[in-house]
Amino acid sequence: MFTGPANVGKTTLALDFARALVCSGTPPPCDHCAECRMLLANGHPDVEQVESDDADATDFTALWDTSVADRPSRALRIERVRELIRSCATRPSQARYRVATLDGSMVQDAAASALLKLFEEPGPSTVLLLRANAVEGLPPPIASRCQIVPLRPVPATDIARWLGEADITPDLALDCAGVSGGRPGLALRLAKTPGAMDSLGKQVVTALDLVGADTVARIEQAGIWARNYATTRAAIDLLSLVWRDLMRLAANEEVSVSLRSARPALTDLAGQLDIATLGRQLRAIARASRLLDANVQPRLLLDWLLLQLRGPLPRPLP
Ligand SMILES: [Zn+2]
Repeated sequence: MFTGPANVGKTTLALDFARALVCSGTPPPCDHCAECRMLLANGHPDVEQVESDDADATDFTALWDTSVADRPSRALRIERVRELIRSCATRPSQARYRVATLDGSMVQDAAASALLKLFEEPGPSTVLLLRANAVEGLPPPIASRCQIVPLRPVPATDIARWLGEADITPDLALDCAGVSGGRPGLALRLAKTPGAMDSLGKQVVTALDLVGADTVARIEQAGIWARNYATTRAAIDLLSLVWRDLMRLAANEEVSVSLRSARPALTDLAGQLDIATLGRQLRAIARASRLLDANVQPRLLLDWLLLQLRGPLPRPLP
């Protein structure tokens, strides 16, 4: 099981690993043998990718791209798991291994108990590759049968250099790398989507406005952001980004502010908040992030979180 934040590279690594398992060249994955070429082109008969489509927008774009965010739930259907169990019971047709890759966040309810059987008795030469944002989001009996490979965020300078190799201009590369939180896939998507950084800037202003907002406005904003898992995850990631920058500015660490267009507003607000308050609020954001992956109801979670993000109390009247 590969764990780590969305867009950090879990799918890319799982597919490379799957390719290494079926590759007949050296060193695997060789990119040139029949198995590698088949998998890269249209897929391989011994490699099953059990997912709807991987561009699941569990990133900031879910906040404004409603066509993606309002898609129906991606829960794994029980019929699909039964199909998988049947195919995993047979020998691989041409490679040494039969490989299945699955998104752990899709594994719920009835599908989870069916899948557990597969994890208890995988077929001959079967390798199951799971991905999950956090181990806690998976049923413990499944998680306990996995070897867990945690993926850590990639340094922003490395991401910026990598974006540069993909013909992204240096300024845009730095901005996208800075806001990506160490997730190369997110940085690339922001860089390649026209207007994405402008839309993100507007969301940052919305987040900053929360500090001085009244309770009604907070609850309203929670409703807008908590439409589904993807939008809630995006909102929590956004708040984490903004509050980390506020903290850096409040501590006079000016160099690493990630969203340069929002810098004046961030600097202004950082001057009004003390470090203890910001620290408490950052801990609340981190806690909300963990609870979301432990399947806490998104609306309740954001209602609670946005109430924690109050600014300093107004000065008493003279
Ligand atoms: Zn190969």
